[in-house]
Amino acid sequence: MDFIRSVECKEHYDVVVAGSGPGGVAAAITLGRLGKKVLLVESSACIGGYATAVMLGIILDMPGKGGIPREIFERLHSMGKAMWVDDKSYTYDIESMKYVLDAMVKESNVTVLLYSSVTATKVENGHISAILIDGPSPMAVSADWVVDGTGSGQVSFESGCEYYIGSENDNSAVQAASLQALVTGVPENLWHSEIHSREKKKQFKELLESVGHEPTYPAPLLFRLSMADPTCAFQINHEYNVRCDDPFRMSEATMEARKEIYESERDLKKKEGWETLTLVSTGVLGLRDGRRIAGLYKLTGDDGAAGRKFSDGVVPCSFCFDIHATTKKEADKVGFQAEVTKRIQPYEIPMRCLISKDIDNLFMVGRCISGDFEIHSSYRVIGPAFGMGEAVGVAISSLSKGSSNRSVDGEKVASIMKERGYKL
Ligand SMILES: Cc1cc2nc3c(=O)[nH]c(=O)nc-3n(C[C@H](O)[C@H](O)[C@H](O)COP(=O)(O)OP(=O)(O)OC[C@H]3O[C@@H](n4cnc5c(N)ncnc54)[C@H](O)[C@@H]3O)c2cc1C
Repeated sequence: MDFIRSVECKEHYDVVVAGSGPGGVAAAITLGRLGKKVLLVESSACIGGYATAVMLGIILDMPGKGGIPREIFERLHSMGKAMWVDDKSYTYDIESMKYVLDAMVKESNVTVLLYSSVTATKVENGHISAILIDGPSPMAVSADWVVDGTGSGQVSFESGCEYYIGSENDNSAVQAASLQALVTGVPENLWHSEIHSREKKKQFKELLESVGHEPTYPAPLLFRLSMADPTCAFQINHEYNVRCDDPFRMSEATMEARKEIYESERDLKKKEGWETLTLVSTGVLGLRDGRRIAGLYKLTGDDGAAGRKFSDGVVPCSFCFDIHATTKKEADKVGFQAEVTKRIQPYEIPMRCLISKDIDNLFMVGRCISGDFEIHSSYRVIGPAFGMGEAVGVAISSLSKGSSNRSVDGEKVASIMKERGYKL
Protein backbone atom coordinates (compact mmCIF):
# COMPACT_ATOMS: atom_id res chain seq x y z
CA MET A 1 0.00 0.00 0.00
CA ASP A 2 1.40 3.41 -0.90
CA PHE A 3 0.89 6.45 1.25
CA ILE A 4 1.86 9.60 -0.54
CA ARG A 5 2.24 13.01 0.96
CA SER A 6 4.56 15.82 0.18
CA VAL A 7 6.52 17.33 3.05
CA GLU A 8 8.14 20.69 2.89
CA CYS A 9 11.91 20.82 3.54
CA LYS A 10 11.81 23.53 6.17
CA GLU A 11 15.30 24.46 7.19
CA HIS A 12 18.99 23.57 7.11
CA TYR A 13 20.91 22.99 10.38
CA ASP A 14 24.56 22.40 11.09
CA VAL A 15 23.51 19.43 13.23
CA VAL A 16 20.26 17.54 13.91
CA VAL A 17 20.35 15.55 17.14
CA ALA A 18 17.60 12.91 17.36
CA GLY A 19 16.71 11.94 20.92
CA SER A 20 17.38 14.10 23.98
CA GLY A 21 18.59 11.38 26.39
CA PRO A 22 21.85 11.95 28.26
CA GLY A 23 23.90 11.38 25.09
CA GLY A 24 21.76 13.52 22.79
CA VAL A 25 21.30 16.43 25.16
CA ALA A 26 25.02 16.60 25.99
CA ALA A 27 25.84 16.60 22.25
CA ALA A 28 23.33 19.38 21.60
CA ILE A 29 24.56 21.55 24.49
CA THR A 30 28.22 21.11 23.48
CA LEU A 31 27.51 21.97 19.84
CA GLY A 32 25.29 24.92 20.73
CA ARG A 33 27.98 26.34 23.02
CA LEU A 34 30.51 25.97 20.20
CA GLY A 35 28.33 28.12 17.98
CA LYS A 36 26.62 25.48 15.84
CA LYS A 37 23.02 25.78 14.66
CA VAL A 38 21.44 22.74 16.33
CA LEU A 39 17.99 21.15 16.20
CA LEU A 40 17.26 18.72 19.07
CA VAL A 41 14.30 16.46 18.19
CA GLU A 42 12.55 14.54 20.98
CA SER A 43 9.52 12.22 20.74
CA SER A 44 8.33 12.80 24.28
CA ALA A 45 7.34 15.90 26.22
CA CYS A 46 10.62 16.46 28.06
CA ILE A 47 14.36 16.53 27.59
CA GLY A 48 16.55 13.95 29.36
CA GLY A 49 15.40 10.61 27.92
CA TYR A 50 15.56 7.80 30.46
CA ALA A 51 17.06 10.16 33.06
CA THR A 52 13.74 12.03 33.19
CA ALA A 53 10.93 10.22 31.29
CA VAL A 54 11.83 6.80 32.75
CA MET A 55 12.38 8.44 36.18
CA LEU A 56 15.57 6.58 37.10
CA GLY A 57 16.74 8.89 39.89
CA ILE A 58 20.34 7.74 40.08
CA ILE A 59 23.30 8.56 37.84
CA LEU A 60 25.78 5.69 37.69
CA ASP A 61 29.45 5.70 36.69
CA MET A 62 30.54 9.26 37.44
CA PRO A 63 34.27 8.57 38.12
CA GLY A 64 36.53 10.35 35.69
CA LYS A 65 33.73 12.45 34.20
CA GLY A 66 34.33 16.19 33.92
CA GLY A 67 32.59 18.66 31.61
CA ILE A 68 28.83 18.47 31.20
CA PRO A 69 28.03 15.56 33.58
CA ARG A 70 29.96 17.33 36.36
CA GLU A 71 28.26 20.65 35.58
CA ILE A 72 24.81 19.02 35.74
CA PHE A 73 25.64 17.54 39.15
CA GLU A 74 26.92 20.91 40.43
CA ARG A 75 23.76 22.69 39.28
CA LEU A 76 21.46 20.10 40.89
CA HIS A 77 23.53 19.96 44.07
CA SER A 78 23.48 23.75 44.49
CA MET A 79 19.66 23.51 44.44
CA GLY A 80 19.73 20.77 47.11
CA LYS A 81 18.33 18.34 44.53
CA ALA A 82 21.15 15.81 44.18
CA MET A 83 23.26 13.86 46.63
CA TRP A 84 26.17 11.43 46.34
CA VAL A 85 25.38 7.82 47.18
CA ASP A 86 29.07 6.90 47.16
CA ASP A 87 32.06 8.14 45.17
CA LYS A 88 30.60 6.75 41.93
CA SER A 89 26.92 7.67 41.75
CA TYR A 90 24.39 10.27 42.86
CA THR A 91 20.63 10.46 43.22
CA TYR A 92 18.65 13.42 41.92
CA ASP A 93 15.15 14.82 41.82
CA ILE A 94 13.56 14.13 38.42
CA GLU A 95 11.73 17.46 37.94
CA SER A 96 14.86 19.37 38.91
CA MET A 97 16.81 17.44 36.25
CA LYS A 98 14.22 18.56 33.65
CA TYR A 99 14.54 22.16 34.89
CA VAL A 100 18.35 22.11 34.70
CA LEU A 101 18.49 20.49 31.24
CA ASP A 102 15.85 22.91 29.87
CA ALA A 103 17.96 25.81 31.13
CA MET A 104 21.19 24.40 29.69
CA VAL A 105 19.80 23.83 26.17
CA LYS A 106 18.23 27.29 26.21
CA GLU A 107 21.46 28.98 27.32
CA SER A 108 23.24 27.10 24.51
CA ASN A 109 20.84 28.42 21.84
CA VAL A 110 19.72 24.93 20.83
CA THR A 111 16.37 24.80 19.02
CA VAL A 112 14.21 22.16 20.72
CA LEU A 113 11.40 20.25 19.03
CA LEU A 114 9.41 18.16 21.53
CA TYR A 115 6.47 15.87 20.64
CA SER A 116 8.26 15.05 17.36
CA SER A 117 10.08 11.96 16.09
CA VAL A 118 12.61 11.35 13.36
CA THR A 119 10.80 8.69 11.35
CA ALA A 120 12.79 8.44 8.11
CA THR A 121 15.91 9.68 6.41
CA LYS A 122 16.81 10.17 2.78
CA VAL A 123 20.15 8.51 2.11
CA GLU A 124 22.13 9.31 -1.02
CA ASN A 125 25.54 7.71 -1.62
CA GLY A 126 25.96 6.80 2.06
CA HIS A 127 25.03 10.33 3.18
CA ILE A 128 21.87 11.52 4.98
CA SER A 129 20.58 14.34 2.81
CA ALA A 130 17.17 14.87 4.46
CA ILE A 131 15.44 13.95 7.70
CA LEU A 132 11.71 13.40 8.05
CA ILE A 133 10.24 14.55 11.36
CA ASP A 134 6.74 13.42 12.27
CA GLY A 135 4.68 15.16 14.89
CA PRO A 136 2.08 17.86 15.16
CA SER A 137 3.52 19.36 11.96
CA PRO A 138 5.34 16.81 9.77
CA MET A 139 8.37 18.39 8.16
CA ALA A 140 11.67 17.59 6.50
CA VAL A 141 14.96 19.26 7.41
CA SER A 142 18.53 18.88 6.21
CA ALA A 143 21.77 18.98 8.18
CA ASP A 144 25.51 18.70 7.69
CA TRP A 145 25.70 16.19 10.55
CA VAL A 146 23.21 13.90 12.27
CA VAL A 147 23.53 12.45 15.78
CA ASP A 148 21.55 9.34 16.70
CA GLY A 149 20.75 9.62 20.41
CA THR A 150 17.50 7.67 20.26
CA GLY A 151 18.66 4.80 22.49
CA SER A 152 17.05 2.33 20.08
CA GLY A 153 19.27 3.50 17.18
CA GLN A 154 16.15 4.47 15.25
CA VAL A 155 17.80 6.98 12.93
CA SER A 156 20.62 4.60 12.02
CA PHE A 157 18.08 1.82 11.43
CA GLU A 158 16.02 4.09 9.17
CA SER A 159 19.23 4.92 7.30
CA GLY A 160 19.98 1.25 6.58
CA CYS A 161 22.95 0.84 8.96
CA GLU A 162 24.14 -2.55 10.17
CA TYR A 163 22.99 -3.19 13.75
CA TYR A 164 22.67 -5.83 16.47
CA ILE A 165 19.98 -6.46 19.10
CA GLY A 166 20.45 -8.58 22.24
CA SER A 167 22.89 -11.35 23.05
CA GLU A 168 25.23 -12.73 20.39
CA ASN A 169 25.39 -16.05 22.29
CA ASP A 170 21.74 -16.52 23.17
CA ASN A 171 19.51 -16.04 20.12
CA SER A 172 19.43 -12.25 20.44
CA ALA A 173 17.77 -12.51 23.87
CA VAL A 174 17.29 -9.08 25.45
CA GLN A 175 17.71 -8.02 29.08
CA ALA A 176 14.60 -7.45 31.15
CA ALA A 177 12.86 -4.08 30.85
CA SER A 178 11.52 -2.18 33.88
CA LEU A 179 8.90 0.44 34.67
CA GLN A 180 9.95 2.80 37.45
CA ALA A 181 7.67 4.59 39.90
CA LEU A 182 7.84 7.40 42.42
CA VAL A 183 6.24 7.15 45.86
CA THR A 184 5.93 9.32 48.95
CA GLY A 185 4.99 8.52 52.53
CA VAL A 186 7.73 5.93 53.09
CA PRO A 187 8.30 5.54 56.86
CA GLU A 188 11.15 7.86 57.86
CA ASN A 189 13.29 5.10 59.36
CA LEU A 190 12.95 2.86 56.32
CA TRP A 191 14.14 4.83 53.35
CA HIS A 192 17.86 4.57 53.05
CA SER A 193 20.84 5.74 51.06
CA GLU A 194 22.53 2.35 50.82
CA ILE A 195 21.13 1.87 47.36
CA HIS A 196 23.58 -0.79 46.26
CA SER A 197 23.29 -2.82 49.47
CA ARG A 198 22.22 -6.41 48.73
CA GLU A 199 21.00 -6.72 52.31
CA LYS A 200 18.63 -3.72 51.94
CA LYS A 201 17.30 -5.11 48.66
CA LYS A 202 16.68 -8.46 50.34
CA GLN A 203 14.82 -6.77 53.22
CA PHE A 204 12.62 -4.81 50.78
CA LYS A 205 11.88 -8.00 48.82
CA GLU A 206 10.86 -9.78 52.02
CA LEU A 207 8.65 -6.84 52.96
CA LEU A 208 6.83 -7.05 49.61
CA GLU A 209 6.50 -10.82 49.97
CA SER A 210 5.00 -10.34 53.44
CA VAL A 211 2.02 -8.58 51.81
CA GLY A 212 1.69 -11.26 49.12
CA HIS A 213 3.78 -9.72 46.30
CA GLU A 214 6.85 -11.47 45.03
CA PRO A 215 8.47 -8.66 43.02
CA THR A 216 9.33 -9.67 39.42
CA TYR A 217 12.60 -7.75 39.92
CA PRO A 218 14.41 -9.99 42.44
CA ALA A 219 16.52 -7.11 43.81
CA PRO A 220 13.89 -4.36 44.27
CA LEU A 221 14.92 -0.83 45.19
CA LEU A 222 13.44 1.88 47.36
CA PHE A 223 15.55 5.00 47.76
CA ARG A 224 15.17 8.69 48.43
CA LEU A 225 16.02 11.03 45.52
CA SER A 226 17.22 14.12 47.37
CA MET A 227 17.44 15.45 50.90
CA ALA A 228 15.16 18.34 49.93
CA ASP A 229 12.00 16.27 49.63
CA PRO A 230 10.69 12.87 50.70
CA THR A 231 10.01 11.36 47.24
CA CYS A 232 11.44 7.87 46.79
CA ALA A 233 12.14 5.76 43.71
CA PHE A 234 10.17 2.48 43.81
CA GLN A 235 11.72 -0.07 41.43
CA ILE A 236 10.20 -3.54 41.70
CA ASN A 237 9.58 -5.09 38.27
CA HIS A 238 11.24 -6.93 35.43
CA GLU A 239 9.45 -7.50 32.11
CA TYR A 240 10.89 -10.16 29.84
CA ASN A 241 11.23 -10.48 26.06
CA VAL A 242 10.56 -6.80 25.33
CA ARG A 243 12.41 -5.77 22.17
CA CYS A 244 12.76 -2.19 21.01
CA ASP A 245 11.23 -3.14 17.63
CA ASP A 246 8.10 -4.73 19.14
CA PRO A 247 5.65 -2.00 20.21
CA PHE A 248 2.91 -4.57 20.91
CA ARG A 249 5.01 -6.32 23.56
CA MET A 250 6.20 -2.92 24.87
CA SER A 251 2.58 -1.89 25.37
CA GLU A 252 1.60 -5.16 27.04
CA ALA A 253 4.67 -5.08 29.32
CA THR A 254 3.99 -1.47 30.35
CA MET A 255 0.48 -2.38 31.46
CA GLU A 256 1.64 -5.56 33.25
CA ALA A 257 4.27 -3.56 35.14
CA ARG A 258 1.87 -0.76 36.05
CA LYS A 259 -0.54 -3.33 37.52
CA GLU A 260 2.23 -4.87 39.61
CA ILE A 261 3.30 -1.48 40.95
CA TYR A 262 -0.24 -0.34 41.73
CA GLU A 263 -1.20 -3.53 43.53
CA SER A 264 2.06 -3.69 45.51
CA GLU A 265 1.58 -0.13 46.77
CA ARG A 266 -2.08 -0.79 47.55
CA ASP A 267 -1.24 -3.84 49.68
CA LEU A 268 1.95 -2.49 51.25
CA LYS A 269 0.10 0.50 52.69
CA LYS A 270 -2.12 -1.91 54.66
CA LYS A 271 0.94 -2.84 56.69
CA GLU A 272 1.46 -1.13 60.03
CA GLY A 273 3.74 1.88 59.64
CA TRP A 274 3.21 2.06 55.86
CA GLU A 275 -0.27 3.66 55.86
CA THR A 276 0.98 6.93 54.34
CA LEU A 277 2.70 5.27 51.37
CA THR A 278 1.38 6.91 48.18
CA LEU A 279 2.11 6.06 44.57
CA VAL A 280 2.72 9.39 42.83
CA SER A 281 3.52 8.37 39.29
CA THR A 282 4.88 5.72 36.94
CA GLY A 283 7.26 6.55 34.09
CA VAL A 284 7.84 5.32 30.56
CA LEU A 285 8.94 1.67 30.18
CA GLY A 286 12.76 1.50 30.20
CA LEU A 287 14.40 -0.94 27.77
CA ARG A 288 17.93 -1.88 28.75
CA ASP A 289 18.65 -3.14 25.23
CA GLY A 290 18.16 -1.30 21.97
CA ARG A 291 19.94 -1.52 18.64
CA ARG A 292 23.73 -1.40 18.81
CA ILE A 293 24.84 0.32 15.61
CA ALA A 294 27.98 -0.76 13.78
CA GLY A 295 30.73 1.84 14.08
CA LEU A 296 34.36 2.02 13.05
CA TYR A 297 35.24 -0.07 16.14
CA LYS A 298 33.12 -2.55 18.09
CA LEU A 299 33.95 -2.42 21.79
CA THR A 300 33.81 -5.84 23.50
CA GLY A 301 33.45 -7.42 26.91
CA ASP A 302 37.08 -8.51 26.58
CA ASP A 303 38.10 -4.84 26.17
CA GLY A 304 36.25 -4.06 29.42
CA ALA A 305 37.76 -7.00 31.29
CA ALA A 306 41.25 -6.06 30.09
CA GLY A 307 40.77 -2.39 31.07
CA ARG A 308 41.73 -1.42 27.53
CA LYS A 309 42.75 2.18 26.85
CA PHE A 310 42.90 3.67 23.34
CA SER A 311 44.75 6.59 21.78
CA ASP A 312 41.30 7.87 20.72
CA GLY A 313 39.70 6.98 24.09
CA VAL A 314 37.23 9.81 24.76
CA VAL A 315 35.13 8.59 27.73
CA PRO A 316 36.40 6.69 30.80
CA CYS A 317 34.10 3.93 32.14
CA SER A 318 34.22 1.69 35.17
CA PHE A 319 30.67 0.44 35.79
CA CYS A 320 30.35 -3.33 36.21
CA PHE A 321 28.95 -5.87 33.73
CA ASP A 322 25.26 -5.39 34.63
CA ILE A 323 23.43 -7.88 32.40
CA HIS A 324 19.89 -8.17 33.73
CA ALA A 325 18.29 -11.60 33.37
CA THR A 326 16.72 -12.26 29.96
CA THR A 327 14.06 -14.71 31.21
CA LYS A 328 12.11 -15.32 34.40
CA LYS A 329 13.73 -18.77 34.55
CA GLU A 330 17.19 -17.20 34.55
CA ALA A 331 16.18 -14.67 37.21
CA ASP A 332 14.84 -17.46 39.44
CA LYS A 333 18.13 -19.29 39.05
CA VAL A 334 20.74 -16.55 39.36
CA GLY A 335 18.90 -13.49 40.71
CA PHE A 336 18.48 -10.29 38.73
CA GLN A 337 21.92 -10.29 37.10
CA ALA A 338 23.28 -12.88 34.71
CA GLU A 339 26.49 -14.50 35.85
CA VAL A 340 29.54 -12.99 34.18
CA THR A 341 32.85 -14.54 35.04
CA LYS A 342 34.79 -11.47 33.90
CA ARG A 343 35.18 -8.31 35.94
CA ILE A 344 35.41 -4.79 34.55
CA GLN A 345 38.70 -2.95 34.85
CA PRO A 346 38.46 0.81 34.16
CA TYR A 347 38.45 1.13 30.35
CA GLU A 348 37.85 3.78 27.69
CA ILE A 349 35.35 4.18 24.86
CA PRO A 350 37.21 4.98 21.65
CA MET A 351 35.87 7.76 19.43
CA ARG A 352 35.51 5.18 16.63
CA CYS A 353 32.58 3.53 18.50
CA LEU A 354 30.64 6.77 18.07
CA ILE A 355 31.18 7.04 14.30
CA SER A 356 28.84 5.22 11.91
CA LYS A 357 30.63 2.88 9.54
CA ASP A 358 27.81 3.02 6.95
CA ILE A 359 26.80 6.70 6.75
CA ASP A 360 29.41 9.41 6.35
CA ASN A 361 27.63 12.18 8.29
CA LEU A 362 26.17 10.12 11.15
CA PHE A 363 27.36 9.73 14.77
CA MET A 364 25.88 7.65 17.63
CA VAL A 365 25.74 8.42 21.35
CA GLY A 366 24.42 6.62 24.45
CA ARG A 367 22.94 3.12 24.38
CA CYS A 368 23.12 2.69 20.59
CA ILE A 369 26.89 3.05 20.07
CA SER A 370 29.02 0.26 18.62
CA GLY A 371 29.70 -2.52 21.13
CA ASP A 372 28.84 -6.11 21.97
CA PHE A 373 26.11 -7.31 24.34
CA GLU A 374 28.45 -7.73 27.30
CA ILE A 375 30.21 -4.38 27.29
CA HIS A 376 26.97 -2.55 26.46
CA SER A 377 25.70 -3.61 29.90
CA SER A 378 28.51 -1.52 31.41
CA TYR A 379 28.69 1.65 29.25
CA ARG A 380 24.92 2.05 28.78
CA VAL A 381 24.44 3.98 32.05
CA ILE A 382 23.94 7.74 32.30
CA GLY A 383 27.42 8.99 33.32
CA PRO A 384 29.17 7.59 30.21
CA ALA A 385 26.22 8.57 27.95
CA PHE A 386 26.63 12.25 28.92
CA GLY A 387 30.36 11.95 28.16
CA MET A 388 29.74 10.36 24.75
CA GLY A 389 27.46 13.25 23.78
CA GLU A 390 30.08 15.78 24.79
CA ALA A 391 32.77 13.91 22.81
CA VAL A 392 30.60 13.83 19.68
CA GLY A 393 29.90 17.54 20.07
CA VAL A 394 33.63 18.25 20.25
CA ALA A 395 34.30 15.95 17.27
CA ILE A 396 31.65 17.47 15.00
CA SER A 397 32.71 21.02 15.76
CA SER A 398 36.24 20.14 14.59
CA LEU A 399 35.07 19.01 11.15
CA SER A 400 34.88 21.17 8.08
CA LYS A 401 31.69 21.28 6.02
CA GLY A 402 31.52 18.50 3.43
CA SER A 403 34.13 16.27 5.10
CA SER A 404 33.42 12.72 6.23
CA ASN A 405 32.88 11.57 9.83
CA ARG A 406 35.95 9.36 9.25
CA SER A 407 38.14 12.46 9.21
CA VAL A 408 37.57 13.03 12.94
CA ASP A 409 40.94 13.16 14.69
CA GLY A 410 40.12 10.92 17.67
CA GLU A 411 43.38 11.70 19.48
CA LYS A 412 42.64 15.42 19.25
CA VAL A 413 39.11 14.88 20.60
CA ALA A 414 40.62 12.82 23.45
CA SER A 415 43.00 15.64 24.34
CA ILE A 416 40.14 18.20 24.36
CA MET A 417 38.10 15.86 26.59
CA LYS A 418 41.06 15.78 29.01
CA GLU A 419 41.08 19.60 29.05
CA ARG A 420 37.36 19.41 29.86
CA GLY A 421 38.16 17.41 32.99
CA TYR A 422 37.80 13.80 31.82
CA LYS A 423 40.40 11.45 33.32
CA LEU A 424 41.75 9.63 30.27
C1 LIG B 1 15.06 0.14 33.65
C2 LIG B 1 16.34 0.87 33.51
C3 LIG B 1 17.00 1.28 34.63
C4 LIG B 1 18.18 1.98 34.52
N1 LIG B 1 18.76 2.43 35.64
C5 LIG B 1 19.82 3.26 35.53
C6 LIG B 1 20.32 3.91 36.68
O1 LIG B 1 19.84 3.72 37.79
N2 LIG B 1 21.38 4.76 36.51
C7 LIG B 1 21.96 4.99 35.31
O2 LIG B 1 22.92 5.75 35.23
N3 LIG B 1 21.48 4.37 34.20
C8 LIG B 1 20.42 3.55 34.28
N4 LIG B 1 19.90 2.98 33.16
C9 LIG B 1 20.53 3.21 31.86
C10 LIG B 1 20.29 4.62 31.30
O3 LIG B 1 19.21 5.26 31.82
C11 LIG B 1 20.10 4.71 29.83
O4 LIG B 1 20.71 3.68 29.23
C12 LIG B 1 20.63 6.07 29.38
O5 LIG B 1 19.65 7.00 29.69
C13 LIG B 1 20.99 6.03 27.94
O6 LIG B 1 21.00 7.30 27.42
P1 LIG B 1 20.83 7.58 25.87
O7 LIG B 1 21.63 8.80 25.60
O8 LIG B 1 21.11 6.38 25.07
O9 LIG B 1 19.31 8.01 25.67
P2 LIG B 1 17.97 7.46 26.31
O10 LIG B 1 17.95 7.82 27.75
O11 LIG B 1 17.77 6.07 25.91
O12 LIG B 1 16.91 8.41 25.59
C14 LIG B 1 16.62 8.34 24.23
C15 LIG B 1 15.66 9.46 23.88
O13 LIG B 1 15.39 9.44 22.49
C16 LIG B 1 14.01 9.67 22.27
N5 LIG B 1 13.68 9.09 20.96
C17 LIG B 1 13.61 7.77 20.64
N6 LIG B 1 13.32 7.63 19.33
C18 LIG B 1 13.24 8.88 18.83
C19 LIG B 1 13.00 9.38 17.51
N7 LIG B 1 12.80 8.55 16.48
N8 LIG B 1 12.96 10.71 17.32
C20 LIG B 1 13.17 11.56 18.39
N9 LIG B 1 13.40 11.14 19.64
C21 LIG B 1 13.46 9.81 19.85
C22 LIG B 1 13.33 9.00 23.44
O14 LIG B 1 12.04 9.54 23.65
C23 LIG B 1 14.30 9.32 24.56
O15 LIG B 1 13.98 10.54 25.18
C24 LIG B 1 18.72 2.24 33.25
C25 LIG B 1 18.06 1.81 32.11
C26 LIG B 1 16.89 1.13 32.24
C27 LIG B 1 16.17 0.70 31.01
